[in-house]
Amino acid sequence: MAVRLTFHGAAESVTGSKFLLETDKTSLLIDCGLFQGRKELRKRNWDEPLFDPRELAAVVLTHAHIDHTGYLPLIVSKGFHGPVYCTAATKELLQLLLPDSARLQEEDARFSNKHKTTRHNPAKPLYTEKDAKAALKLLKVIPRGESTEVLPGIHVTPSCAGHILGSTSLNVRIGKKLVTFSGDIGRYDTPLLPDPEPVELGDVLLCESTYGDRDHKIADTCAELSKVVHSAVDRGGALVIPAFAIGRTQNILYYLAQLERSGEIPILPVLIDSPMAVDATKIYRKFRHDYDEEARELIEKGQRPLGTEKTAFCRSRDESKLINGLKGPRIIISASGMVSGGRILHHMRKLLPREETTVLFVGYQAHGTRGRTIQSGEKSVKIFGDHIPIRANIQSISGLSAHGGREELLRWLSSCSGSPNYAKIIHGEAKSSRAFAATLTEKFSWKASVAEYRETIDI
Ligand SMILES: [Zn+2]
Repeated sequence: MAVRLTFHGAAESVTGSKFLLETDKTSLLIDCGLFQGRKELRKRNWDEPLFDPRELAAVVLTHAHIDHTGYLPLIVSKGFHGPVYCTAATKELLQLLLPDSARLQEEDARFSNKHKTTRHNPAKPLYTEKDAKAALKLLKVIPRGESTEVLPGIHVTPSCAGHILGSTSLNVRIGKKLVTFSGDIGRYDTPLLPDPEPVELGDVLLCESTYGDRDHKIADTCAELSKVVHSAVDRGGALVIPAFAIGRTQNILYYLAQLERSGEIPILPVLIDSPMAVDATKIYRKFRHDYDEEARELIEKGQRPLGTEKTAFCRSRDESKLINGLKGPRIIISASGMVSGGRILHHMRKLLPREETTVLFVGYQAHGTRGRTIQSGEKSVKIFGDHIPIRANIQSISGLSAHGGREELLRWLSSCSGSPNYAKIIHGEAKSSRAFAATLTEKFSWKASVAEYRETIDI
């Protein structure tokens, strides 16, 4: 059977993952992600897809992140109505992420209309909350570690990728051909999640390369975090941590709980102040069977891996406002992770001018974001139109990325069996993908090249 594969995104870029598998009889999309980041990439979300969504038979998702799923409501609005396969945890996380993505699209359109920043009159959102809800109805759960026939003659086996809750690598068998999609590969020895699981590599391998040209710095995250907590307590004020609601918030909570249990830090109020982080933590708590051994052992001993002695979850506005009345050492974890929106803005406006405050960055801060401004030692930052003076102590720690570095990608590939006829490198900036392709050829003697946007190959 002839099988064609087209790269509709995440080719020489990190976002927009969409890989179309076609035979003479049917077609299947692996991931359905939105382009994010640079304007020229985001513009691609508005291009007509080169495939007809009405003809597409099914979609399979590697994990819940929007750059792998956020294009789903759009193809649904264009007539796609087939099944969308994913793991149980991915399905639950998408109940949060897809409607949120739609609300952001609708907000963008409202902003453009109000400020006349568009040639289109009126500007329309890429998709609406109604489209997102229609997409959610198509989700169908498939288990990890087992093969499921998703379309006649097409079998998919997901395995744990250790990246976020529910994340997978996918092996897709079409007739005699086997295609491996790495998905986003996580780190080894991270909180809660098992290490990336070895798979049998197919005839063709699509491998991510977010960190294809660099390793993560070796960091003892727990020790660094402990040091920052102690210095924040000495200053006597709040420790404010901007963090992504899904993944990062739960990792920080896990480390804080661990440090408290071992007596390395004092028991402090820990306030999770973001509706999405609160809901995501609930989902992380629910999917205990997806945890690694260490986290499961904690639960067997009656401990909560995702909760300190005094964790408070602030979902409503009123709960959030109660935080304002608190004084003394306390930890506030809030989104967004780069201080671009969300409740973190209110905390920053109030607490940045105070010398007793500590702000801790636990993730990459992109150029042009408020997070970057604060992190880089500026004297003030603009929030809600006001210039807010920065007198707080600003700290950053590393080691919390959800993506494996080069060494970890190679470790995962070395743990896998089989040897692909060729590897296509995806999900990385061009420089990173090129370096990783060269590394694979050098280390494994595989034919490897960087996938190009909208390139088609025969399998
Ligand atoms: Zn991801």
